[in-house]
Amino acid sequence: MADSSKPETLGFQTEVRQLLKLMVHSLYSNKEIFLRELISNASDAADKLRFESLANPDLLGGETDLSIRIEVDKDKQQLSVIDNGIGMSRDEVVDNLGTIARSGTAEFLEQMTGDKKHDAQLIGQFGVGFYSSFIVADKVTVETRRAGLSADEAVRWESDGQGEFTIEHIDRADRGTRVTLHLKDDQKEFAESLRVETLIRKYSDHIGFPVTLLVVGADDKEARIVNSATALWTRPRTDISDDDYKEFYKYLTHDFADPLAWSHNRVEGKREYTSLLYIPTAAPFDLWNREAPRGLKLYVQRVFIMDDAEQFLPLYLRFVKGVVDSSDLPLNVSRELLQQNPELAAIRGALTRRVLGMLEKMASSDSDDYQVVWREFGQVLKEGLVEDPANKDKLARLLRFASTHNDNDVQDQSLEEYVGRAGPEQDKIYFILAENHATAVASPHLEQLRKRGIEVLLLTDRIDPWLVDGLAEFEGKKLVDVARSALELPESVDAASQDEINEQHKSLLEKIKKVLGDRVECVNVSRRLVDSPACVVAADDDLNPQLRRMLEASGQAIPESRPILEINVEHPLVSRLSREADDAVFDDLSNIVMDHALLAEGTQLDNPAKYVQRMNKLLLDFNSGATGG
Ligand code: ADP
Repeated sequence: MADSSKPETLGFQTEVRQLLKLMVHSLYSNKEIFLRELISNASDAADKLRFESLANPDLLGGETDLSIRIEVDKDKQQLSVIDNGIGMSRDEVVDNLGTIARSGTAEFLEQMTGDKKHDAQLIGQFGVGFYSSFIVADKVTVETRRAGLSADEAVRWESDGQGEFTIEHIDRADRGTRVTLHLKDDQKEFAESLRVETLIRKYSDHIGFPVTLLVVGADDKEARIVNSATALWTRPRTDISDDDYKEFYKYLTHDFADPLAWSHNRVEGKREYTSLLYIPTAAPFDLWNREAPRGLKLYVQRVFIMDDAEQFLPLYLRFVKGVVDSSDLPLNVSRELLQQNPELAAIRGALTRRVLGMLEKMASSDSDDYQVVWREFGQVLKEGLVEDPANKDKLARLLRFASTHNDNDVQDQSLEEYVGRAGPEQDKIYFILAENHATAVASPHLEQLRKRGIEVLLLTDRIDPWLVDGLAEFEGKKLVDVARSALELPESVDAASQDEINEQHKSLLEKIKKVLGDRVECVNVSRRLVDSPACVVAADDDLNPQLRRMLEASGQAIPESRPILEINVEHPLVSRLSREADDAVFDDLSNIVMDHALLAEGTQLDNPAKYVQRMNKLLLDFNSGATGG
């Protein structure tokens, strides 16, 4: 073991080094946020001590009033944030102030571009925390003593933020933590009492502990209380300004940007709790990481209990941030106990409806905010159709789609708009699933519908095959895949049945089927094509090709199924095929028609080389035909 009386030098984890460098560079124009981060840490430390003291009251000793003090020393160019909260042991200091424990950090850092604005936004989503001190300080000293440890078990951590830090044991009479910033020469403003007081007020008015300011060397030796020291959500709504709500959000989430919307409610009566829920402006970098922390901050009777209580909202609302403060849950509630608590299901149901209501309100207002929500979180919301059947109807109204109504590559059309345009005589909602927007827009499956002015929703998200399964219908109108064999259009294009039309072209269909063999289930005359010679469709009970590709890519064994080839008997290429006397040419042409139908829906060919050979041959014939003729 190292000699604990001497400072030991340790290196930062690589990710911390990178983050420090990027942060100082990109956050310079937001530099004062370091104070918010330090106050937030101090307040968390007080929260944690109060929580731990529920089980172990000795931790508080005689010092039961928890508070935060800020000291500025103009002569020394120092600013300190001091709390009498939980403090840290030596191991905790090394872990907390030398590493970043969040998974996905390396990938996150790779997204940094060097462009200040872009990077600042990204780092904002990541949450900067303690390390932001180095934007304004060229040296930071942390002295801390964990609650429950003796005075000689305190620790001093010090670093210039370049790559290493020192750590040593010290004697410290006080419990809790003192973070001292040795300000850079050009950051003296943060040792000015007026400047700092304004910032403290902005950053700490909403937290539940008193924050005092002490100006070292001033005539007034008393520390003054500068905040109102009541937790924001406990105040009446009428007393809280929009700016207060926004500041509290930033304090809570470490986000840089303002939230898009919030909802603050107190529920009284049989069950009592307060919730303050926020919709952020941008998705966090780890929205798709299942391990990423999510959930609300839980308080019971104003005592902080836990961060990231994910039990209060369903997974598909994991982007929502906020606080829930319950009067009914027991103070000793743990994650496991919470799960079993009968109160939980009721609160969860109510909070879910509350969020959906907030989204509904945004969606029906004129502002563009909902478009932002949909862009950032739409794919997550879609999970709700599968996960939360009880709220299916509400969720369905929140969905937005790209559509042939405008062919835009923007998901901006609602089902209500679709149904309104379709009119009562159209009893179905048509959609197409495709790999991407370009494939969807150009799909041969849409031709007949386009010609007849029938709108089709263009679905290209990975989750869409599940979405349409989960949704199934809207306002009594069934959702119908236009790439399925039994497509029924409002009034049948042709009154004759599929069998009757096939009968008229029987020999051609049989001949093509013979050539294509196992490549197709069968060959039909198409009623959905106008401009294209052919398309492939799936039998009604088959997996759709998008889902099949996805499942195959994830290594699942999928039972073989063959597509149905539909040909457009009006098309010149098909007429030519029907007149073709040379068997070899007929064979090539039929296969090319089939390959093109597959390519058009985004399916990869099993044998692309063979396709290229046939195509080359055809082009050569065409060429010699042209010169010869
Ligand atoms: P975050 O607060 O987002 O977790 P930080 O980088 O700000 O990230 O802090 C890292 C960790 O260091 C905190 O989670 C906490 O455990 C610890 N820490 C920071 N400041 C204090 C403090 N004043 N008292 C006790 N622990 C602290």
